Amino acid sequence: ELDSQLSVFESLESEVRGYIRSFPTTFVKAKGSMMWDVNEKTYIDFFAGAGALNYGHNNSKMKEKLINYIAEDGITHSLDMGTQAKATFLTCFNEVILKPRNLEYKVMFPGPTGTNTVESALKLARKVTGRELVISFTNGFHGMTLGSLAITGNSFKRHGAGVSLNHSVAMPFDKYLGEDVDTVDYLERFLEDNGSGVALPAAIILETVQGEGGLNVANADWLKRVEEICRRWDILLIVDDVQAGCGRTGTFFSFEQAGINPDIVCLSKSISGYGTPMALTLIKPEYDIWAAGEHNGTFRGHNLAFITATEALTYWENDDFTKEIIDKGLLVDEFLHELVKKYPELEGEVRGKGLFRGIACGVEGLADKICAQAFERGLIMETSGPKSEVFKIMPALTIDCETLKQGFAIIEESVKNSLT
Ligand code: PMP
Repeated sequence: ELDSQLSVFESLESEVRGYIRSFPTTFVKAKGSMMWDVNEKTYIDFFAGAGALNYGHNNSKMKEKLINYIAEDGITHSLDMGTQAKATFLTCFNEVILKPRNLEYKVMFPGPTGTNTVESALKLARKVTGRELVISFTNGFHGMTLGSLAITGNSFKRHGAGVSLNHSVAMPFDKYLGEDVDTVDYLERFLEDNGSGVALPAAIILETVQGEGGLNVANADWLKRVEEICRRWDILLIVDDVQAGCGRTGTFFSFEQAGINPDIVCLSKSISGYGTPMALTLIKPEYDIWAAGEHNGTFRGHNLAFITATEALTYWENDDFTKEIIDKGLLVDEFLHELVKKYPELEGEVRGKGLFRGIACGVEGLADKICAQAFERGLIMETSGPKSEVFKIMPALTIDCETLKQGFAIIEESVKNSLT
């Protein structure tokens, strides 16, 4: 059965298909941090839907809410009409997430997915400032539609689509030029200098931890200095928390830890909690100058996503959840450091933060090999970085320590095997 299903993908699905190649099977069922394929083989999930499943597959509490909502004929699709599900979500988001953090944002529903929130943020920043240029960073990733793609530092994806860095400039991210070079100095110099060719931008967009770019973590001081620059020149600071947000780095927003206050925040992936597509653009109230309907999309504000998203917020009513993520992150960190020490042939460098961690391997092709070996042994894990050099441990935040450790054992076996 598996072979015939795999041949369906090969013959009918576009060549662009990706994960079916890395994980060549057909999955039929998933619960928590476990997945099962058509041959009833079990997999531990250290991938979590690329960060869209921070609360695990088929989270029981969300599932129950969803089933009840559907059973009672709750409204499913309604564009941006008023629904009870939306009112409840907005109220909870304000009470549970924004107020306790002293954050004030208006919430925009820009469309169903990550790239939609980025596009809306870029458009709004241009509208607010009347400027055109956007500054992004090396190895940043912001999505696959043309605007987001133009500020994405991945030449493979960008050049294929003929998208150049039009109206955008990529500056070196923190530590891109080595540990000792403060790249904010470059940014400052380029903005101050009329001869640099860099116009005053509408916005600076960044990820505090670059997920697709290889788990590059920006220091808090670096982030604060970027924020200062934005304030000095009235540039809007956009934090793309699509992957690093919703608890991935330990706190709900990744930027909380640096104490910065972005003008616009992009959220998607795990905001709905259940894998139901959803995106939010958070806008400081003074910049919420959209005209009614100026940006829209058929699937913005989907009610099934509101139901699961509201339930997902209950995890954040208690500070213990952050502690739980950080503790598990430290377990991963300890394991990765031991692995690097035990297998010097990895030429490994441990990277990341919270449950957003991995190892950058010095040997080309090794991270891909390790992930392929792990898949055979029943573990789903992906690579990132410009050369796929980082294998990434990104489980559900709700994973139990026993399953984490089972995953570690598979990774160690896979490393051992890939090095021989
Ligand atoms: N921003 C970041 C930081 C991301 O990691 C991603 C997706 N990997 C996106 C934007 C785009 O999200 P989507 O694929 O849902 O459009």
